[in-house]
Amino acid sequence: MDRQYPQLEINLPKLRRNTHEVVQRCQKYGITVCGVIKGANGHPDVARAFLDGGATELGTSRIEQVIRCREAGVPGPYLLLRVPMLSELEDVVRWCDTSLQSEVAVLDATEEACQKLGKTHRVIVMADLGDLREGFWDKQEMVRACVHVEQDLPHVHLAGIGVNLGCYGSIQPMPDKMEDLVAIAREIESKIGRKLEVISGGATSSYTLVHWDTMPDGINHLRIGEGILNAKDLQVDWGIHDMKYLCMDAFTIRAQVLEVKTKPSHPVGTIVIDAFCRRPTYVDRGMRKRCLLGIGHADVGDASRLIPRLAGAEVLGGSSDHCILDIEECEQEVHVGDILEFSVIYSAMMYAIARNDMHIIVVDDQ
Ligand SMILES: *Cc1c(COP(=O)(O)O)cnc(C)c1O
Repeated sequence: MDRQYPQLEINLPKLRRNTHEVVQRCQKYGITVCGVIKGANGHPDVARAFLDGGATELGTSRIEQVIRCREAGVPGPYLLLRVPMLSELEDVVRWCDTSLQSEVAVLDATEEACQKLGKTHRVIVMADLGDLREGFWDKQEMVRACVHVEQDLPHVHLAGIGVNLGCYGSIQPMPDKMEDLVAIAREIESKIGRKLEVISGGATSSYTLVHWDTMPDGINHLRIGEGILNAKDLQVDWGIHDMKYLCMDAFTIRAQVLEVKTKPSHPVGTIVIDAFCRRPTYVDRGMRKRCLLGIGHADVGDASRLIPRLAGAEVLGGSSDHCILDIEECEQEVHVGDILEFSVIYSAMMYAIARNDMHIIVVDDQ
């Protein structure tokens, strides 16, 4: 039997176009783009589309994805985004050209791994400017660490410094944060007597400064995933309306209708907690037509955040393996066996593409 659903379609021309739109706007600032493939589980076709669209580097948090892409023949270069585990350093040096770093002990161990393998490795040392995930909080400690790499670690090349914002601490990238990063870079440059190659200003959220024309001089590198994969965070969640040059439907989920019935909108009986230990609330809107689909939280993380493309449809909720839509207001008839399409947010794409029972279809025009 041909198992086709649930299905995730990846549209490569749209990904190439999104990458190109972002890359050319960054180019005006002398900023190169590292295309971040972790949201797509390091899918080699996605990686290739990023390079075709003008990304000069590929980034991911996980070495397994670097290996997957290299084995599929995608050349890179590769940047490891999650500051490395001590236990994975040999693989980091073996498979990645560059890594983000934030601990002197790890930098020293990177030197050892390089010596053992007879290789060199580039590092971008991270500053924490308030988001409170990775990076040096004490900036003088950071400067000393960079000088240490430059002077004492012959196989580790200090490529530059970087920052991450808008992740744990939800801190908005602002020009002053970028200026703070550039100031740290200038101090390091004066201590080591040369220019740093990379001053990496952040992720998709930092791209806003390019879009708004407020990116300060000095930043020359961004690491962008969501903004070219889904392109929804800035347009939908941030409410930036003049970013229509980025298309939000490069990924499509398709699921099959299992059941179509008219039922009460409020559950009937004593409400306790759902299968995920939550106590949802329900609005009583009387009897409504609804349909049940063969896709659930296990496929997309949170099925209630799928975005139906069927006009008038509304996601009511889901469970591990089901998604429930209200279709009372839909003009189009829905039947058992129909295939419905959904747009996806980043997390839904991330879970779906990594599941081995998700049917993945790659669309291309080349
Ligand atoms: C995931 C990640 C990125 C990319 O984030 P997006 O919001 O998808 O652009 C950039 N830098 C680091 C360190 C990351 O972990």
